Amino acid sequence: MAQSTDASVAAEITIRGVVQGVGFRPYVQRLAREYRLTGAVRNESGHVVIAARGQEGDIRRFIQALTGRPPSGATVDGVETKVSEDGGTPPAPDFVIADSGQSDFDRTMMTPDIAVCEDCLREMTTPGDPRYRHPFISCISCGPRFSIAGTLPWDRENTTMKEYALCALCAAQYTDEADRRCHAQTVCCNSCGPVLNYRGRDGAAEGAGALDTAISVLKAGGIVAVKGIGGYHIACRPADEAAVGKLRFLKGREAKPFAIMFPDLCGIKKLCRVDAKEAALLLSPARPIVLLDWVHRDFAGNVAGTSRYLGAFLPYAPLQHLILRETGPLVMTSANISSEPIIKDDGAIEAFFETHAGLDGVLSHGRKILRRLDDSVTAVVNNKARFIRRARGYVPLPMEVEALTGCPPLLCCGAQTKSIAAVTNGSLCYPSAELGDLDGAGSLDVYRETVADLSSLFHIAPRYTVCDLHPDYASARYARETGLPVLEVQHHHAHIASVMAEHGLNERVIGVAFDGTGYGPDGTVWGGEFLLAAPDGFARAGHLKAVRLLGGDASVNQCWKTAACYMADAEIKSQAPGEREKIVQAALGGGVNTVFSSSAGRLFDAVAAILGLCEEATYEGQGAVELENAAASCTVKAGDALPLPYTVGEEGGCIVADMAPCIKEVWAEKERDVPAGLLALRFHLTVASLIDHVCRRLRAEHGLAKVCLSGGVFQNRLLSELTAPLLEECGFEVFFNEKVPPNDGGIALGQFYAGGMRCVRGGFGKTD
Ligand SMILES: [Zn+2]
Ligand SMILES: [Zn+2]
Repeated sequence: MAQSTDASVAAEITIRGVVQGVGFRPYVQRLAREYRLTGAVRNESGHVVIAARGQEGDIRRFIQALTGRPPSGATVDGVETKVSEDGGTPPAPDFVIADSGQSDFDRTMMTPDIAVCEDCLREMTTPGDPRYRHPFISCISCGPRFSIAGTLPWDRENTTMKEYALCALCAAQYTDEADRRCHAQTVCCNSCGPVLNYRGRDGAAEGAGALDTAISVLKAGGIVAVKGIGGYHIACRPADEAAVGKLRFLKGREAKPFAIMFPDLCGIKKLCRVDAKEAALLLSPARPIVLLDWVHRDFAGNVAGTSRYLGAFLPYAPLQHLILRETGPLVMTSANISSEPIIKDDGAIEAFFETHAGLDGVLSHGRKILRRLDDSVTAVVNNKARFIRRARGYVPLPMEVEALTGCPPLLCCGAQTKSIAAVTNGSLCYPSAELGDLDGAGSLDVYRETVADLSSLFHIAPRYTVCDLHPDYASARYARETGLPVLEVQHHHAHIASVMAEHGLNERVIGVAFDGTGYGPDGTVWGGEFLLAAPDGFARAGHLKAVRLLGGDASVNQCWKTAACYMADAEIKSQAPGEREKIVQAALGGGVNTVFSSSAGRLFDAVAAILGLCEEATYEGQGAVELENAAASCTVKAGDALPLPYTVGEEGGCIVADMAPCIKEVWAEKERDVPAGLLALRFHLTVASLIDHVCRRLRAEHGLAKVCLSGGVFQNRLLSELTAPLLEECGFEVFFNEKVPPNDGGIALGQFYAGGMRCVRGGFGKTD
């Protein structure tokens, strides 16, 4: 070995990201010894800190190797290195793993579930290996974590693996420092791990037979529930229209696109456009669903209808690999009924099997799932990863808002749909996975359990609750039931504060919050809002003009009714009004059960219905989704299309954008048989242009040049892709959500920032 001649230095290297509970320290130790370094590695407040001494070049190469190829379960988000001259103190004789768990944070560090790693997959497919075809293979770098951990610390006795005593081989590897299963809490093999079981309509099977039976039922067009990591999936082949139809009936899911799990990335690339960022997301240890441009439309028509995107993901549990290698791509949808929580318990799936004849079988095993975790859903928009749903693979990683150091512990209760609760400790926020809509009784029970679980897991006793202003949200009622002092945060302010929290913005910004609905402090329904927002307060600076809509929950899904209301507002008189129009006009005329709403989501619904794209929504936001699909299918380029007209005025010091001229034009153009796709595209351009127009006006008046955009409407990729460049071209700094979803799944983080800042600044007791 050539002797290095460069200087000996000391370096302190701090590594941030998912670096604990993934075998990071043993990996660092091996690598440090390889590069002849001495010193120690330790966990500290959720990071890994390395104190190393050695030749300068060796240290540089060591850092390169460490960040260039971290262990498979780890995600490195940042590296800080401080190099100083070696002070001449005698070097440590070796490189060691220092004791950790000293800080509160380290005692409560919990890793999300990690997809099976390449090393394990290799063993699983090697005949003769003790874990050949073992559906539960795992190691120090991979396997279930949060979903099976009862309490902390992360030890086997605290997980649902405690029921499986280690065999001699596994026990030896568990204690062998040189083995990659040393201290791997989930280690097991074919002779000591959980065993598969299958129950079908004509009988049952165990072990390898269970797997084979499930595969053959799926191949024959059957529908099988498969136990996953955070709950059961229901699976069928996506090319089989009858099976997909049966699955839709089983789930009560009429039209919402299904996600497809593919055996490998090649399979996805055959059908979808996948760029480097999207590939990295698909292959990341969290293995989220990624919404991809769907180029070659394979599969049955009822898998995802006319969707521009296909939700694609890769297997993350070894069992899924074993199945998909045989079956090819599968629809893998959460086992639940519409928006109820995902089924995780064996008893519950048994009951489901008994009562749902459309389900042909259940492939299960004895390892219990303690926490429900749906698959996470992501997309790459404007070249950045974005969440639609943040759950398995990410929860319970905390988010840090530095401005809230010293904040008393809070319980942030989230919203009503896509409910998420978060407990917080100082500057750290631990959001739960998405728990579904709180309308169902089952969801509310899960919500309560989740709050209790997070509080006990992280040893957090909240002193205040933060909730939405809406008096009828179940989450807000829950906040009051706790008996703790309650802080209220307005819905759209919370949306904007979530973006500010993510990007560490502690100043006044322009906030654009476009969503379906939120309770305004004036008692009207808000949803197309321009705010001047600081973390702890806001002023409403502008909004879409409020339009009188029919009240009642049913009307929300009836886009044709919304359209008729917008048409009435725009004073459009059809030549021969149909029955439906007459009904709406009578209701509006009577003024009974009507609401004024500035909702941007409802505006999208109205335009979708006028264009005949979605008369009645079968899932939340379908109108906007169909509108985006139509716009994307338009062959005219966005740069060659023109926005539709709108007017911007002022009422009581507040900017009011009136879309009636736009609605009129959409109607008139449609009557002239202009294609719906072109009009849908022009409508998107209109909304982008309107946002840009109002932001420029606010900048002129208030001198603010940072714009934060959030709310469910920004799940619309086309709108985000049209709006961001417009704003950037005229000099705005533009911020979107990247760590939490822009929909109501992001509300809890916003509540943390808004409520927490009031606590920190001593303004407790005030509402926005
Ligand atoms: Zn592994
Ligand atoms: Zn074993």
